[in-house]
Amino acid sequence: MRESVKETVKNILTHYLELNKYRKTPERYTILDAVYEMEGHFTLEELGDKLVGDYNFPVSRATLYNTLKLFVELRLVIRHHIQTTTRYEACYNNGSHCHQVCTMCGRVTEVKFQPVDDAVRSLRTKRFHKDGFALYIYGVCSSCQAKMTRMARMENMKKNQKDKENESRKS
Ligand SMILES: [Zn+2]
Ligand SMILES: [Zn+2]
Repeated sequence: MRESVKETVKNILTHYLELNKYRKTPERYTILDAVYEMEGHFTLEELGDKLVGDYNFPVSRATLYNTLKLFVELRLVIRHHIQTTTRYEACYNNGSHCHQVCTMCGRVTEVKFQPVDDAVRSLRTKRFHKDGFALYIYGVCSSCQAKMTRMARMENMKKNQKDKENESRKS
C-alpha cells in the first residue's frame, strides 16, 4: 500500500516536471520519498534531519522550503499553521482528517471521525472543487496533563510543608 502510494506520487511529480520541462533533480525525488516516509506532521527541520540520518542526503533549508512549496501546489503535501509552527504532512490519499492539538507542547495527532468526513463530503460547495479539509481540536495531551498534575501536587506539598513550619514556630 505504502509503496504503491509512493509510486503514484512519484508519477505525479514526473508528469508535472516533464510537462513544464523542469529538470528531474534527485533532490526533488529524494525529498518526496522522505516526505512519504515521515510519520504524520513534521517541521522543515525534522524533514532535514531525516534526509541526513536515513538518506545521507543533506539539503539546504531553501531547497527544502522551495521543494515543499512545489509539493503543496501539486497537492502532494499540505501545510499546516498550528499555533506558532508550520508543519507539513503527506496528503495523497489522506485529504480529510481531524487533528487534536496540544496547546501546551504543540503535539499534533490525527483522529478519525467519520461523521465529520461524511458531513464535509455531503456539503455542496459553490463554484469550488473541494479536495479535503482539516479540523483542529485544541486541548491538552495526556503527558502534559500528567505533568500539570505532578506540578500541582508538588506545589501543594511545598505549601503544606510551609504551613507545618509556621505552626511549629507558633507553638
Ligand atoms: Zn502536550
Ligand atoms: Zn493531518
